[in-house]
Amino acid sequence: MSEVIKKLIRERKLSEDEYELLIKEYSPENADLLAQEAVKIRKSIYGNKVYIRGLIEIGNVCKNDCLYCGIRKSNKNCDRYTLSEEDILSCCKNGYTLGFRTFVLQGGEGGHFTGERLCSLVRKIKEAYPDCALTLSLGEKTREEYEALYKAGADRYLLRHETADSEHYSRLHPPSLTLENRMRCLYDLKDIGFQTGCGFMVGSPFQTESTLAKDLKFTEIFQPEMCGIGPFIPHKDTPFRDFPAGNVNMTCYLLSVIRIICPQVLLPATTALGTLSENGREKGILSGANVIMPNLSPEDAREKYMLYNNKLSSGAESAEKLHELKKRIQNIGYEIVCARGDAERKR
Ligand code: SAH
Repeated sequence: MSEVIKKLIRERKLSEDEYELLIKEYSPENADLLAQEAVKIRKSIYGNKVYIRGLIEIGNVCKNDCLYCGIRKSNKNCDRYTLSEEDILSCCKNGYTLGFRTFVLQGGEGGHFTGERLCSLVRKIKEAYPDCALTLSLGEKTREEYEALYKAGADRYLLRHETADSEHYSRLHPPSLTLENRMRCLYDLKDIGFQTGCGFMVGSPFQTESTLAKDLKFTEIFQPEMCGIGPFIPHKDTPFRDFPAGNVNMTCYLLSVIRIICPQVLLPATTALGTLSENGREKGILSGANVIMPNLSPEDAREKYMLYNNKLSSGAESAEKLHELKKRIQNIGYEIVCARGDAERKR
């Protein structure tokens, strides 16, 4: 076993240079070693439970122009939609019946659901489903807006940092978006009391071992309750259309590292992973992930919420096929549970 892997297993943290070395040392054998350690740690905290979250894509209207994203403002081929409040509540109802006890509202930024309208939606969902957790994934807001949403009853907030290297950040985003503000948002969310999720794409354009090492160091220091990591996948109507997709094996390797450095983290095996590889979700679970987020959006919204080419939303990816997903997860020795699935307290 290499020195850096021994040290990671022993100390559960590394210096930035050591993370870089660890990434360069990727091999199928090393991936197995880290996956074994990650699975052991997860087992000791969460047993063989896999938590499910019902993902509701509430709209694809967006004022931002992130260069990788299919719903960016400049994409004129994107057929824009916004769900109504009734649509969203009926998705929750459907999800509740299917057994979901966490709903995740995700969407573009600056559309219909902002300010008081969004707070009112949050209150209505929490009133109707007081035993459910509500996660928001609606991008950058002011501290006051986050506080209002927390007060309205939202429990968790997902905001991937995308890359912890500011130079890299500026190559993925327009000048109006900065790493500094992204970080301000993340620290505000945590400080307000949200269970907070950061995360990044694997294999995004211009990513290097050095920028990935920064992502790992940031994640280790931030100690998020959740962390979303998935491969970059090009979208045909974005400036990054000709860049290659990220690597499934590297994504799984990094999932294992994240589990080791943040033992309690709720770590999804993402849709992007499932899109790139037939058994992507299973591979993610076997690498240390413990969350899956099936799609609860109405059928026609699913086609329009195209963040990248061929994004999956049917089969085991869709909430209605939960039984199929349950079987697949059972087949690898795990169990889908319907609990809220909050992050375990740090010991
Ligand atoms: N506006 C919200 C939600 C964005 S979509 C926000 O900024 O948080 C959720 C995540 O999808 C993003 O954080 C990004 O990491 C991921 N994503 C977007 N485009 C992608 C692509 N082309 N390939 C892979 N993941 C992508």
